[in-house]
Amino acid sequence: MKKGSVELVGVVKRYGESTAVRNIDLHIEGGSYCCLLGPSGCGKSTTLRMIAGHESVSEGDILLNNRNVTTLPPRKRGTALMFQNYALFPHLNSLDNVAFSLKIAGVSRQERHSRALEMLKLVNMESFFEAFPEQLSGGQQQRVALARALINQPEVILLDEPLSALDPFLRTRMRAELKRIQQQLGITFIHVTHSQEEAFALADQVVVMNNGYIEQVDKPIGIFSRPSTAFVASFIGGHNIIEGTLTDSGLTTGDERLIRLESTPLGDTDNKAAVSLRCDRIQISPQPFESAQPDPMRVESVEYQGSYVHLRGQFSDGLGLSVFQSDADYLAAPLNAGDQAFVGWRHTDLNPLRPGSDIAPGL
Ligand code: ADP
Repeated sequence: MKKGSVELVGVVKRYGESTAVRNIDLHIEGGSYCCLLGPSGCGKSTTLRMIAGHESVSEGDILLNNRNVTTLPPRKRGTALMFQNYALFPHLNSLDNVAFSLKIAGVSRQERHSRALEMLKLVNMESFFEAFPEQLSGGQQQRVALARALINQPEVILLDEPLSALDPFLRTRMRAELKRIQQQLGITFIHVTHSQEEAFALADQVVVMNNGYIEQVDKPIGIFSRPSTAFVASFIGGHNIIEGTLTDSGLTTGDERLIRLESTPLGDTDNKAAVSLRCDRIQISPQPFESAQPDPMRVESVEYQGSYVHLRGQFSDGLGLSVFQSDADYLAAPLNAGDQAFVGWRHTDLNPLRPGSDIAPGL
């Protein structure tokens, strides 16, 4: 097994009467980049802090490299947590901020400064070694904080919303830097975010959380191409969720509209079921075509998004669909709000969803 593996077994966190994390099992491979993704309040930071040892565990175990660390203090785990607000010491320059924990450990001045400079080089901040935090931009402070977290050579680094305070341009740049540093060092990164774009760009493994539970664990491409629940499909965006009742011939939705299915989703006791369908996998045209639904839908809105156009429409029985059409296809036969449009899809693009999951709030 590669160094830096993390295992959560039946982990629960309660705060008084309320439960923030509900019995989660998770394996994170050593040397991988893992993102905990989900809306605010779903338990991501609590999970991260329990791995770091900054929060106690109500039930269950946390293993690092197969060693049970559930009750160990943070400094004995081989982990380092980078706080959201960076928490740099205002009275110390960059070099001494990075070297601080080595000073506490009694490492000589010369050695700790040379190791701190190495870390500042890694994050491209060596020329700012004498600068104090107030003289640095938010992005620069963050690099120093990252160097400080890395100086004790942790096997696992834990990052709580590390990019959220940065402006969008800097966020994209720093994101690439994080990935470069993780690949260069080969250590495990566990990164909390509520941005699916960030998680998809960075992660080898995405863990989608909702309401204290894990909804799905997969590579980004697996999450996007085959979301397992309605919550995941709605949270990551770009998907339609079609709900209905299962019959022998398929999924019946709205007023008797039949959606033929390639594979049978699991219905609940009333045979209610749902499938997801990617918005970019729907063909749309003013004219009927072979795989089109028998009746057209009415286009309700058209939004230009650059490389694609987002059309929303509704059938007469109430079924609504979002369609992403490439700009080239759109320009070849432009549709406007109020127009009739035929839509169709391949049955293999209908993705069965596990029952019993909500749709993400606000969507
Ligand atoms: P996220 O990081 O996904 O936004 P958190 O892990 O911070 O979510 O919080 C999960 C839940 O636990 C929330 O309902 C939050 O209010 C609650 N919570 C977090 N920390 C505490 C605490 N120290 N005391 C009481 N409740 C807490």
